[in-house]
Amino acid sequence: MSDCLFCRIVAGEIPARKVYEDERLFAFEDIKPGAPTHILIVPKRHLAGLAEAADGDAALLGELQLRAAALAQARGLHGGYRTVVNVGPDAGQSVFHLHLHLLGGRPLAWPPG
Ligand code: 5GP
Ligand code: ZN
Repeated sequence: MSDCLFCRIVAGEIPARKVYEDERLFAFEDIKPGAPTHILIVPKRHLAGLAEAADGDAALLGELQLRAAALAQARGLHGGYRTVVNVGPDAGQSVFHLHLHLLGGRPLAWPPG
């Protein structure tokens, strides 16, 4: 989608600090990090959010989580980390291209605000 921010980042039209890429996924540093590690992992294919995911997206959703675990391991987040998908306005979703947040490197309060 040409008017989608994360599609444009995936396409290289908007610069981002890439940390990982494969055929289906793209990961980059959040522009406004909420923790020492704050990575966004997105599918390359446009999908507006978790609410729009279908049964056929199950493997892709699993890949997002498993890639977060691999990146956390690579970052040495041995004390723990959090993966988050914000869905809709009540959760503060601000970019409507599915993305998994990987946060770590500091103690993370629970429940989130
Ligand atoms: P959401 O609030 O939708 O769950 O998360 C969107 C995230 O995208 C936010 O954490 C925000 O800081 C990040 N973000 C917004 N615009 C950009 C951008 O242009 N580049 C990068 N790298 N991150 C962005
Ligand atoms: Zn998109």
